[in-house]
Amino acid sequence: MAGSMAAHNLAEQTARRLETRLLEGAWTAGTRLPAERTLAAELAVSRSTLREAIQRLGARGLLVAKHGSGVFVTDVLQAGFVSPWRQLVADHPEIRDDVLEFRRVLESSTACLAAQRADRADLRRLAQIIRQLEACHRSGDRVTEARADAELHEAIAEASHNTMFRHLHAGVIRMLRQHIALNIDQLREQSAAVSGILLEQHLAIWHAIRTHDGDAAAEAMCAHIDFVRSRVEREAAGDWSLPAARSNRKAVRARDDRVDGVDAQK
Ligand SMILES: [Zn+2]
Repeated sequence: MAGSMAAHNLAEQTARRLETRLLEGAWTAGTRLPAERTLAAELAVSRSTLREAIQRLGARGLLVAKHGSGVFVTDVLQAGFVSPWRQLVADHPEIRDDVLEFRRVLESSTACLAAQRADRADLRRLAQIIRQLEACHRSGDRVTEARADAELHEAIAEASHNTMFRHLHAGVIRMLRQHIALNIDQLREQSAAVSGILLEQHLAIWHAIRTHDGDAAAEAMCAHIDFVRSRVEREAAGDWSLPAARSNRKAVRARDDRVDGVDAQK
């Protein structure tokens, strides 16, 4: 009993020592750890203790064992905060839809308030982001485009002039977006048409806010989130590589939906 307790403590101490190397940046993201035998000797612990320590850090997402090629440092620390939600959403694809459903409710209300309350400074900021989104779409700079997309949603939350919405957005939505953004980035890379559809949706939201039309802003935001939702569902179903004709049809349909003022939701 005492022996196994001591072994656990030793594994924990070893995990802390490995953690220190990660924190100090001695091992950066993507680094492969030295071979088990070498590292165990260096740390003066048994290989089984080292293995247990690595497992502990693996459980916390700091290290990942790739079968046959070794143990690697993940980008969790570089990515900033380790969000338990982010991991949960990644591990449980079935709650993605709940996440998007929640975003739909929250962000459409936020957009509605933004349309009612946006002041000149808010509108200047939104206009600036929209110009950036247009420029990125033209140049095909998908990385900056994704960042500007997130900034637009945050600027809309700011323009709502509601402390709760702003805080919720800063906390929950930003974190949830990180996961969704991964999907959307892939979508954009897949097809310039998708980037075009997203831009049209953002323009529709912007136009409604600029003209202080709360209902139209909420509706445009719902259509935007529903589009993302339908694409994420497809991605979850493994339906990534859409034939060109099909994605064009989708583009036309999204445009028609907007023209008719019909919600894209099924
Ligand atoms: Zn967006």
